[in-house]
Amino acid sequence: MSRVYNFSAGPAVLPEEVLREAADEMMDYRGTGMSVMEMSHRSKPFEQIITEAEQDLRDLMGIPDNYKVLFLQGGASQQFAMIPMNLMKNRVADYIVTGQWAKKAAKEAEKYGKVNRIASSEDKTFSYIPDCSDLPVSEDADYVYICENNTIYGTKFKKLPDTKGKTLVADVSSCFLSEPVDVEKYGVIYGGVQKNIGPAGVVIVIIREDLITEDVLPGTPTMLTYKTHADAKSLYNTPPAYGIYICGKVFKWLKAQGGLAVMKERNEKKAKLLYDFLDQSSLFKGTVVPEDRSLMNVPFVTGDADLDAKFVKEAEEAGLVNLKGHRSVGGMRASIYNAMPYEGVEALVAFMKKFEEENR
Ligand SMILES: *Cc1c(COP(=O)(O)O)cnc(C)c1O
Repeated sequence: MSRVYNFSAGPAVLPEEVLREAADEMMDYRGTGMSVMEMSHRSKPFEQIITEAEQDLRDLMGIPDNYKVLFLQGGASQQFAMIPMNLMKNRVADYIVTGQWAKKAAKEAEKYGKVNRIASSEDKTFSYIPDCSDLPVSEDADYVYICENNTIYGTKFKKLPDTKGKTLVADVSSCFLSEPVDVEKYGVIYGGVQKNIGPAGVVIVIIREDLITEDVLPGTPTMLTYKTHADAKSLYNTPPAYGIYICGKVFKWLKAQGGLAVMKERNEKKAKLLYDFLDQSSLFKGTVVPEDRSLMNVPFVTGDADLDAKFVKEAEEAGLVNLKGHRSVGGMRASIYNAMPYEGVEALVAFMKKFEEENR
């Protein structure tokens, strides 16, 4: 068996301990004689899996009792529609546009009501986070929406926007569980798990109870109503059972590491190694303003598309894979999620040094 250092933005690297455990339990999950994949979602063992997964997530994030945790499907992209369908009572919402994902979410919300783009960083290809300390928040806005960590551009909100009392909704797909959060600052926190938690197919929604109502936009399907899933504890229909099982293992792994404060420290240490190298390199250059840099996604360029392509190819041959930047921006991007060990970033930086010397 040989494992690579996988810098993919998502689906992405998972902890080896988790993969080994899942492998050990593949044929016979704890004496049931079957895999979790083959198991009824109404069975006792699965009930225990989903209940423990929720509790472990609550422990990790310190989720207050007046928030529900929902394990849903449809990816983060489905939330782009579910959020307005469930929350847009006045049919007005404010969006802060800091990248492709926020842009897509704003466009989708326009199907349901008036969308005000109250701040944007598109003028400089989303290389920074706009000042959100005094935004023109709309009087009648149902919520203010952000994408907290911009997976493609590598920026992160280091300080949440002042929403002037309006409900904050955040897509945290690519920074989920990367550091401690104060859940009470948000009305909704959601993310696809395939970036920093588990396999594709699960999206986790953490939502304050007062936002879960039957008063949704006319025509909202049962399956796209938060209340359906909250009332049924994520078991209204067959949930993405195997994915939830792996997420549960990752939650336990995170607890065993010491929790989110420890993950933050490690993530900062990993990111610093790479950013410090970029800041002194004569060949590679980071594309984001230093104060808004993401701990999770690190885009960089040489300034020469052919050299970028050569780098990606040679890195892959050296076991450092999926370093090609998003198709919309080019260059390179190293995603260094929770499960990427420090040694992986060390190996990347060593390889970049060598490449720089050989390509002066
Ligand atoms: C990947 C990603 C998405 C889209 O996720 P899907 O699960 O593919 O719909 C949305 N937002 C962010 C921040 C992402 O990183």
